[in-house]
Amino acid sequence: MRVCCANARYALTGMPEDSSEFKPLPRRRKKSESAAKPRKRTPVGATTPSVTRRTARSTAAAAEDAAAPRPARRRRKAAKKNSFGWLKYVAFMALVGIGVYFILNLQPTPPAPPANETPDPNATLVPTSAPFFPVIALPQLPTAAPTFTPTPTIPQVAIVAGHWAQESGDAVATVRDSGATCPDGLREVDITKSVADKTLALLKQRGYHVVLLQEFDPRYEQEPKFAPKSFLSIHADSCLVGADYSYATGYKIAHAEPSDNEQEDSRLVTCLTRSYDKVASKYDKPFNANTITRNMTEYHAFRKIDPRTPAAIIELGFLGWDRDFLVNHQDEMAQGLANGLDAFLHGSACVPATATPQPTETVLP
Ligand SMILES: [Zn+2]
Repeated sequence: MRVCCANARYALTGMPEDSSEFKPLPRRRKKSESAAKPRKRTPVGATTPSVTRRTARSTAAAAEDAAAPRPARRRRKAAKKNSFGWLKYVAFMALVGIGVYFILNLQPTPPAPPANETPDPNATLVPTSAPFFPVIALPQLPTAAPTFTPTPTIPQVAIVAGHWAQESGDAVATVRDSGATCPDGLREVDITKSVADKTLALLKQRGYHVVLLQEFDPRYEQEPKFAPKSFLSIHADSCLVGADYSYATGYKIAHAEPSDNEQEDSRLVTCLTRSYDKVASKYDKPFNANTITRNMTEYHAFRKIDPRTPAAIIELGFLGWDRDFLVNHQDEMAQGLANGLDAFLHGSACVPATATPQPTETVLP
């Protein structure tokens, strides 16, 4: 059997004796051939049904590009689309917001001064912390109401309660120098404080900005110098009684001599004299020009306040002969003083009821 023997030989050697007899699978051969040899290019348009065979290469390629890849690109676009695409816009806006906020907050906040520290008025202003970056002036948004910055108001009336010192509250009893004192204990400071309070109360009722001063008020030390619109120091005279002191009665009003503001000082004295005299004359208390001393014209506070301030000093009466007037008619006295200051502050010329007195060298016994 040829078939049998041939098969037997093949089984022994592993290779068929006659190669013509071996026919490998066509698939295997084709695969190896295609790997070894370059594939033969099919002419463009040969197998494409939409393009005719005679179409030029370039035209065919363009047509292919126009026709074929379109569905692929559409598919890619569709794949890229996602439902969270808007998030990038949100993130972008957030970044812009953070950037703007950062720029606006570049300038460091100035350090707050300690609450218990009093600023030195003579101190030179030197910036303690300069900003790192130039500060861009941004337009201010209109606020609902304009901010009100309170400015220190200048008092229109400042009245000294003669010899009064605020040592423990309003306790007049603790005053060291209470001025003139009567043998029975009546003190000048009791009169001056009471009349000063009443006069200021009346002026306050009329809308004036008033200030009560001590005999040696801390405001005298301030810089710039204390400069109210009008200044009056209220005093009362000595407690002299008896026939030898019959001259010791009446009131007097004076301004500084020499005066730095003669015209206004004189007008203030005239306004006060005219008004106070209406009250004093009711009780036969004359303007006692003869007893105006240098104690009045060189009153210490005249040189401590602003020299342009219209200022005057009054001796309401004598504690001795005018005791009843000083003790029992304080409301009227205060009315007289308030009217005089009111007229002065209203710019009145205050036609004098009594001649403005000149200081004398009278030496009290
Ligand atoms: Zn006095």
